[in-house]
Amino acid sequence: MASIDELISKVLEKVQNEVSNSFEVEASGRHIHLSQADVDTLFGKGYELTKQKDLSQPGQYACKERITVLGPKGAFHNVVILGPVRPESQVEISLTDGLALGVKAPIRESGDIEGTPGIVLVNGNNVVSLEKGLIVAKRHIHMSPDDARKAGVENKEIVQVKVEGARPLIFDDVVVRVHPNFATAMHIDYDEANACGFTKGMRGRIIKKS
Ligand SMILES: [Zn+2]
Repeated sequence: MASIDELISKVLEKVQNEVSNSFEVEASGRHIHLSQADVDTLFGKGYELTKQKDLSQPGQYACKERITVLGPKGAFHNVVILGPVRPESQVEISLTDGLALGVKAPIRESGDIEGTPGIVLVNGNNVVSLEKGLIVAKRHIHMSPDDARKAGVENKEIVQVKVEGARPLIFDDVVVRVHPNFATAMHIDYDEANACGFTKGMRGRIIKKS
């Protein structure tokens, strides 16, 4: 029979393994990325967005400025803008948000906006009518090259991720994105967060590779 000490060290080892093979899950609410041209139209020529809070991904931040996203059936006010500016504007919503706006947004990876529907952005009297850029972000894991090597996954690989919690869930079709600028974290939207009973600090673990 194993001694108490042996049992404890086995349990500790298991816990440590689970922590090192897991990553924090973060829930992203609806948000907007803007091009400088669209910042100019919405806020005035040469306007610079004001950083309010750093995000987990290095260099990314939430801005103080909030604007309205307007669809044919509804609108969302005070939607957060994430900086820095990007080459093209992009609005990320959940499928539920799409129903409220009255626009069917496809599930896409960030930046892959060809052929996506447009949406209207409003700041006071200033209006930008985007011709494309409305997406539901495909769930993904940002990974540093080091963590990707440890997990044995590559950039663009599709995996399954299990999250524990009040409503344990296995997410399929999760894309791994590896970049030296990334801090390892999984991103899901609020629909997905509610589906798994998300709470802050929740962790996920890759259980199956493609
Ligand atoms: Zn992300």
